[in-house]
Amino acid sequence: MSDHRVQSPYTFHPYAWQLGIWERLTGLSADSRLPHAILMGGAAGIGKQRLAHAFAAYLLCQSPNPTSACGACKSCNLLSAGSHPDFIFLTPETDPKTEKTAKFIKVDQVRELVEFAAKSAQLGGYRVICIEPAHLLNVQAANALLKTLEEPGRQTLIMLVSSQALSLPATIRSRCQQLILPLPEESDALAWLTPQVGDPTSARLLLGLAGGAPLAALALRDSLWFAERERLLKDLSGIREGKVGALAAAQRWHGLGAEAVLSGLSSLVEDMARLSLGAKVVKHHDLAPIIQGLCRRVSAKSLLEFRRGLAEKQRFLGGNIQGPLLLDAVFSEWGRMA
Ligand SMILES: [Zn+2]
Repeated sequence: MSDHRVQSPYTFHPYAWQLGIWERLTGLSADSRLPHAILMGGAAGIGKQRLAHAFAAYLLCQSPNPTSACGACKSCNLLSAGSHPDFIFLTPETDPKTEKTAKFIKVDQVRELVEFAAKSAQLGGYRVICIEPAHLLNVQAANALLKTLEEPGRQTLIMLVSSQALSLPATIRSRCQQLILPLPEESDALAWLTPQVGDPTSARLLLGLAGGAPLAALALRDSLWFAERERLLKDLSGIREGKVGALAAAQRWHGLGAEAVLSGLSSLVEDMARLSLGAKVVKHHDLAPIIQGLCRRVSAKSLLEFRRGLAEKQRFLGGNIQGPLLLDAVFSEWGRMA
């Protein structure tokens, strides 16, 4: 197998909140009405990739159960081993030496997929191609995919998975059947999240902050900044009161990484902005008193501008901007705001 054919760790079951969509997909398959290309969209962190992979396994499985692939047949074993000849998972490549992941899915990867689609299935059943995140196909890669997307060959399913489905070229979208996955019901999301984070209060807090997306909520719990929110807010207070210098704060927070600090600040400032625009509750509700105190001292307009500035700086991260300098600029601006 060449480097372009990245396989993911295998999952055979969809999440509990996906059973409705699962039934729809397996029903289409039972009636031989599956389209040849599906664009699976919906918010980030709701388990789209898991659904796509579980459905791929189901289609390839030699004796599937109604709710999943069997996990034990030759096809399932090949998938688990990452060597199924009739399955391709395209995602941006990771350099094995530097461990850096490419920003895009490249045209060479798609060319290999086109070759794969032109052959017949080695195990005699379906062939499945998963592309994820599909919005990371670069322009050439997207163009190289068009013809295969239109005529992928017999018993072949292409699944494009993306949390930014609308940003895909219209030429791609129009060739796929679009399936937009909804957010799970809050009770389903909490039933999954609570045992993993340990207590219902934290689960609710995280789910609210993640906009109802359970996997995003779990990732938030593990993010570098989440446990540091209170310290970050205290420094923001200190800067406003003239007790903490912007440069000292920047040096202190640089250790966490500029990206994490900007993400944390964005989330906290968004809460402040919502509050000063009249919202009754904050999303970081465990820290409500500090957040309320802070946003009394800054105008809603300034908060929104500051938030926009943060978003812009997040976009430029990864360039040549030095972390401490960037954070110094951010904290200085925070101190100056009217
Ligand atoms: Zn199986």
